[in-house]
Amino acid sequence: MQEWKKHLSDSVVKVEDLPFVPESLEYRERLKKVVDVFPVRINSYFLSQIKNENDPLWKQVVPTLEELDDIIDEESLLVSDPLNEEGDMPVPELVHRYPDRVLLMVNNQCPVICRFCTRKRKIGFPGVVSRETLRRGIEYIHNHSEVRDVILSGGDPLLVPDKELDRILGELRSIPHLEIIRIGTRVPGTLPQRVTPELCDILKKYHPLYFNMHFNHPDEITPEVERACNMLADTGIPLGSQTVLLKGVNDDPKVMKELMHKLLMIRIKPYYIYQADMALGTDHFRTDVQKGLELISDLQGHTSGMGVPYFVIDAPGGGGKVRLLPDTIVEHNEKEIIIKNYEGKVFCYPQPIKKSAKMKVLTTEETVSAENICQMPA
Ligand SMILES: *Cc1c(COP(=O)(O)O)cnc(C)c1O
Repeated sequence: MQEWKKHLSDSVVKVEDLPFVPESLEYRERLKKVVDVFPVRINSYFLSQIKNENDPLWKQVVPTLEELDDIIDEESLLVSDPLNEEGDMPVPELVHRYPDRVLLMVNNQCPVICRFCTRKRKIGFPGVVSRETLRRGIEYIHNHSEVRDVILSGGDPLLVPDKELDRILGELRSIPHLEIIRIGTRVPGTLPQRVTPELCDILKKYHPLYFNMHFNHPDEITPEVERACNMLADTGIPLGSQTVLLKGVNDDPKVMKELMHKLLMIRIKPYYIYQADMALGTDHFRTDVQKGLELISDLQGHTSGMGVPYFVIDAPGGGGKVRLLPDTIVEHNEKEIIIKNYEGKVFCYPQPIKKSAKMKVLTTEETVSAENICQMPA
């Protein structure tokens, strides 16, 4: 058996086997109720990286009783499908929300089940995405020439066996109007043994192929993960990352900066930081939106621009991603814009001078006054 398959088949899926969980029988009985609603999976590689109760890796994958709070609380605003993905599916498992790109869910299994998952409603339950469903998804893309970008998601597309993945990628690549294929995956960071020379040989046939991987904490970047990402980068795949802002895991400027630096070191370009979605059972992970803006302020200008991702809220109900930026415009009008830099210092940038319909040459006097338009605020 391949090493990664062994790690998967040795996964923790039961309360009795969870690491660092109180011995109390009563607690465990209650935790079983959580797991009945929201399944557990921690593959044995990821399990081996968990060092302590409540460490940042533990928090991401070990269930707690708080997950049922949203279900008990009648006033909770959290819902099972916060982005209304099911409402934007012209055919099953394919979300067509933006004009030129679609998201195709190829399975519902992951190398670890994240407790904060936006698709908590469907991940890790028995059942598969059937061949027929996939065929219809690919056919939809065939029939919609406006689709030039597909994101394979799930679940995790890299848990699909090599042969099947090769077939799916091959069928997508045969669609003439499809320009790029993206794979959204947490495999390289949570089950790096899955990245094998055989897998890379398959992937490299389908360029331009992009990866968006999922990393939330610097401790996830182990020597094994580094090896996997190097192999992918050497295969010629541009690597990006997505991070979910999580209370108690990465809502700290030092942690976030270290994560961004470590990602750049393994040739991953940080792409998005997500405000946590309003998924039922995940309220205890949510931070104030202000926190995300603070984290971006702490990165922007203070470190390589390459290491500063976009901070986004995926609009509840299915409006798509909205990018949020800390305020950098102090004031603006037709003549000038007053901006604030990363140190809080204020600068003025004069707008191009509006020329009258009949182009006229400025007199010396007028030129001088144009230079004076821009005045620093007192
Ligand atoms: C995030 C997402 C995309 C891709 O968005 P980009 O901003 O292009 O990365 C496409 N479709 C859906 C449904 C998405 O959620």
